[in-house]
Amino acid sequence: MAAASPKTALVVGGGFAGLAAAQVLTEKGLDVVLVEQGRGLGGRMCTRTATVPGTGERLTFDHGCQYLTARSPQWDAALERLRAAGAVAAWETGGRVGTATLNADDSLDEGSFSADKGKELLVGCPTNSAVGRALAAAAGPRLTTITGTRVGALSWDGKAWRVKASRPPVLSLRVTPGGRGGSGSGEGDTSPISSVDEKERQREEAMASLESRAFDMTVTAMSSVSTAKLLGDGGHGGVPLAADVAVAAGAVRSNVCWALMVALKRKLDLPFDGALLSRPDPAGGPLPLYGPVAWLSRDCTKPGRPAVAGGAGETWVVHGGPGWSNDRAAAAPEAVARELLEELARLAQTELVPERDVLHMEAHRWNNAYPLNPRPPVPPPPGSPAAELGLGLGGCYMLRADLALVACGDWAKGPRGGDAYVSGWEAAHALLASV
Ligand SMILES: Cc1cc2nc3c(=O)[nH]c(=O)nc-3n(C[C@H](O)[C@H](O)[C@H](O)COP(=O)(O)OP(=O)(O)OC[C@H]3O[C@@H](n4cnc5c(N)ncnc54)[C@H](O)[C@@H]3O)c2cc1C
Repeated sequence: MAAASPKTALVVGGGFAGLAAAQVLTEKGLDVVLVEQGRGLGGRMCTRTATVPGTGERLTFDHGCQYLTARSPQWDAALERLRAAGAVAAWETGGRVGTATLNADDSLDEGSFSADKGKELLVGCPTNSAVGRALAAAAGPRLTTITGTRVGALSWDGKAWRVKASRPPVLSLRVTPGGRGGSGSGEGDTSPISSVDEKERQREEAMASLESRAFDMTVTAMSSVSTAKLLGDGGHGGVPLAADVAVAAGAVRSNVCWALMVALKRKLDLPFDGALLSRPDPAGGPLPLYGPVAWLSRDCTKPGRPAVAGGAGETWVVHGGPGWSNDRAAAAPEAVARELLEELARLAQTELVPERDVLHMEAHRWNNAYPLNPRPPVPPPPGSPAAELGLGLGGCYMLRADLALVACGDWAKGPRGGDAYVSGWEAAHALLASV
């Protein structure tokens, strides 16, 4: 008797959630195809590279997720595997990463810096984009990844899932005064690529082969906004695929975060390598207030990053505050880059003249940076297949067993990489138990 062919699964989204789900599914013997619209894997944990014209100097910037910390058993085990594979290492800052306070006029209270000594900060090696690649490798040969391709629509005929693929939207927000950049990754990254015809041919082939396949089950692992769109009325004739999931994901709000990536020809005199900047709410509210800059880091101090300007310079990543970034959601990236450079100069109490001090500068807009009100986890009901697994699933996903579909991502747990990973891990286990 012929052996039954292995079940197949589609994973939409190649961030922590999608890669965690893919690994669980391949370990259980499924053939998995993961489709990612960005050029690389890792989602918001990613790196932009650039080349300085004339000298050919290579620069890297971790412009999204900054560092990873231990949070939960599954996540901590994943971090240890990544460490053993050499894909993450400690950011040994000698107490130079922490928090600092802003004065009422948003200037830096330098004496307020307080090092965050309580936890180990792990970063990707040699850059943050190594993490997505390593997680995909850990899923083994049963995982096929297709990047640079967007799942435009999904359909379910009662037995199988099919995909309508499309090109990613052009969301490039790259600004490179006087220069051209290299490769990068992450949601919405469409920076210039070489050999456009060849890439286009490969993409057409991948899209055709994807559309010819049928899948037994589907995991969506995207931001809340993309989840609501794909499972709501987007792309399938106005009929929601999973209205309840789309509504729940659509209720999760997120903020814009502008990221400045700048390489300076000289060093800045700031008393830290990374700091979260905020000030207490004068009205006594529980939430800290952010100014124009919420976070800034001397990116080149992370392990394995290239020296800048022969060691004379530095790379900085500056994240705009939530309110400041939201107000500029529709602004031109060139203007935002200039504004954030001025803010960096103001915080460092120096003058930064682009033509004189800047080797490379660009801005990226994260449209859905963090879930502000993540969906509260809903543990599987006692007696349900997911509860019977004995894994103690916390319910950080939304399962539609009738559709062989599960939705996950940080929006279903919390605003950190480790939350997204656990959401994907739980989602895949719950899906397998239900089909
Ligand atoms: C600026 C910034 C700083 C951060 N700093 C930290 C930090 O220091 N520490 C920390 O732990 N967390 C941090 N985070 C949060 C962390 O990055 C996220 O919580 C986590 O990466 C989310 O993972 P995810 O898999 O849920 O989503 P994502 O990483 O967003 O992955 C979803 C993927 O789905 C893809 N996708 C979307 N739609 C489609 C489609 N239709 N077809 C195919 N692919 C699609 C996207 O391109 C994306 O790659 C930060 C986030 C940002 C933006």
